[in-house]
Amino acid sequence: MKQLFLVGFILAFATSYSQQSYYLTADRVFDGENLHEGWAVIVEGDKIVAAGPKSSVKEPAKSIKINFPNSTLTPGLIEGHSHLFLYPYNITDWDTQVLKETDAYRTARATVHAKNTLLAGFTTARDLGTEGAGYSDVGLKRAINEGVIPGPRLLVAGRAIVSTGSYGPKNYDHDQQIMLGAEAADGNDLIRVVRDQIGKGADFIKVYADYRWGLHGEDQPSFTLDELKLINEVTRSSGRVLVCHAKSKEAIKRAVLAGAETIEHGDFIDLEIGKLMKEHNVTFIPTLAAVDMISQYRGWKKGVSPEPANVTNKKKSFKEALASGVAIGMGGDVGVFPHGNNVLEMELMVEYGMKPFDVLKAATSVNARAFHLENQVGFIKAGLKADLVIVTGDPSKNISDLRAVKFVMKDGVVYRNEK
Ligand SMILES: [Zn+2]
Repeated sequence: MKQLFLVGFILAFATSYSQQSYYLTADRVFDGENLHEGWAVIVEGDKIVAAGPKSSVKEPAKSIKINFPNSTLTPGLIEGHSHLFLYPYNITDWDTQVLKETDAYRTARATVHAKNTLLAGFTTARDLGTEGAGYSDVGLKRAINEGVIPGPRLLVAGRAIVSTGSYGPKNYDHDQQIMLGAEAADGNDLIRVVRDQIGKGADFIKVYADYRWGLHGEDQPSFTLDELKLINEVTRSSGRVLVCHAKSKEAIKRAVLAGAETIEHGDFIDLEIGKLMKEHNVTFIPTLAAVDMISQYRGWKKGVSPEPANVTNKKKSFKEALASGVAIGMGGDVGVFPHGNNVLEMELMVEYGMKPFDVLKAATSVNARAFHLENQVGFIKAGLKADLVIVTGDPSKNISDLRAVKFVMKDGVVYRNEK
């Protein structure tokens, strides 16, 4: 009896889901590339079926009308670099999270992080590694896709790959076998590890092309160019892509030449490296917020005490990347700072010299193209997923207006609708 009731409920839900239409209007519609006034957007089921000037878009009968005063309608935002299995290091340091917290505990937290991300208007997120929580991200993604919990659509890395000796947690007694925040592999063993990660559900392969393991703790390449090429070859043949954590110029260069599609962090990008990335169609994911927030956790009083060298350097490299013309996507390394505060990265992009309009593009169309999702999300146009966000104000002029979220829809399902 109970089972029958459940089946009936699911059928009723599926029916209303497939037939429901929405007629959305806003003062401004940002379609992923351009800003329009006087537009309307029609959603049927999980898809956008029409978007354009009100005169050309016919309002369907029995649709639910959505409109807010002084509003901007945008595609669902795309977080390009999250760690849903981490939370701010000023609450619990990274070593403790990785070594002492169980995967179950971390997954419980991740479900809340996923919800906060979605409600902040980020309907898609690329997650760059569980940092010691195995393939819990693959399970989290499944629970979201099945509607068990609310969260953004996910692209997940799984464990990620590091070279032996480079990654943390570090400086424990060497008599102990310490679990690392990612999977170590080298040389020909990389072939097996890449395939194993793919088999366990990785949507892409994330590799640390360098790490702070230099003689003086500086960022130094961890893999040879040949190793990176091998990883890329094995990854590509599965129809997936390689993305690289890389800060030093040498590691970025190797990652780009090996075929990586995105460079994460890129702290030492300059004009020359930016141009090389551009030539190879590589997208830069800056993670400005991670550097800013970690500096603050270490005691920097922003706006009061002098700016730390790593923040000054990050600003300089971001400006050079801008000048080089390399595609710049949006990804903040959120997890280092609270999930749901993803817009912080976008505010820093503006603070460091990018126009708000371009920052909006970075978190929508640029990220969508960089992650091969442009036929699904990142734009408002007929045929794409109904991932839509409405905010008060005009984020194309004031990026912080993205914090004034009124409405969030993912796959045609409304998750937030503030009266
Ligand atoms: Zn990261």
